[in-house]
Amino acid sequence: MPPPVFRFAPSPNGYLHLGHAYSALLNFELARQSGGRFLLRIEDIDAARCRPEFEAAIYEDLAWLGISWETPVRRQSEHLAAYHEAIGKLSAQGLIYPSFESRAEIAREVSQRETGGPWPRDPDGAPLYPGMAKSLSADERQRLAKSGAPFALRLDMASALARAGELSWVERGEGAAGETGRVAARPESWGDVILARKETPTSYHLSVVIDDALQGITDVVRGRDLYWSTSVHRLLQALLGIPEPVYRHHRLLLDDSGHKLSKSTRSTGLRELRADGVTPADIRRLVGLPA
Ligand code: GLU
Repeated sequence: MPPPVFRFAPSPNGYLHLGHAYSALLNFELARQSGGRFLLRIEDIDAARCRPEFEAAIYEDLAWLGISWETPVRRQSEHLAAYHEAIGKLSAQGLIYPSFESRAEIAREVSQRETGGPWPRDPDGAPLYPGMAKSLSADERQRLAKSGAPFALRLDMASALARAGELSWVERGEGAAGETGRVAARPESWGDVILARKETPTSYHLSVVIDDALQGITDVVRGRDLYWSTSVHRLLQALLGIPEPVYRHHRLLLDDSGHKLSKSTRSTGLRELRADGVTPADIRRLVGLPA
């Protein structure tokens, strides 16, 4: 049996905090305990928010925690062609369509529809896309595309579900309601998700699935905030014919007011804690890992 492969996949759009330390240490130790490999992946597709100094800080903070990783590190911004190819495969199956509305236009449409009763929301609480662009004629689509208007490429969820059928994943951790073991995926709860945009030819969902497959990740260990995203990931894996890792969603570290830690909260930032004289051993204690 090849060794299991784990990964920690931060986005360099801010400095790491205690929640990242917990996730990274958990992955690193699970890999070590199982004789597996540990990879670091930089999820930097959002050019507007990712910065080289945050990436440099990720390496520095993880090394300070005593974590080591294989090199070269995969940086998503260097692999846009792989994501583009996956979009091509989904397009060839007739599962992708462009939508041209602005966020404000979509919000207006949703509030209009809401007059007839509550409009469905995705697991993160955002209203589902009402699907206006699906009814555009081929001519209209072509005209909009030629006009240079910004667009998003969306997955036609109904057609994708018809093709992929029922899906599930193996959960070794726990969802918010205690789900564990073989869990039924519910990709329909996300509606026609965006898989790429004109200015960013991929999305979190698409690139995470492609990279986990290309890097041979067997065990995805990440925060519970991404638990229901796994539904979309399983769907994309099925449509693209790529293997299914096992998942372990871990608890989230919360601040004093019960909110998920944020990259902008200085008091839990690893750099600030280090500057205050906190040691890596203290960090383990702070995140609830054994010494
Ligand atoms: N890049 C994502 C984040 O920083 C994590 C992706 C994942 O673990 O699937 O939240």
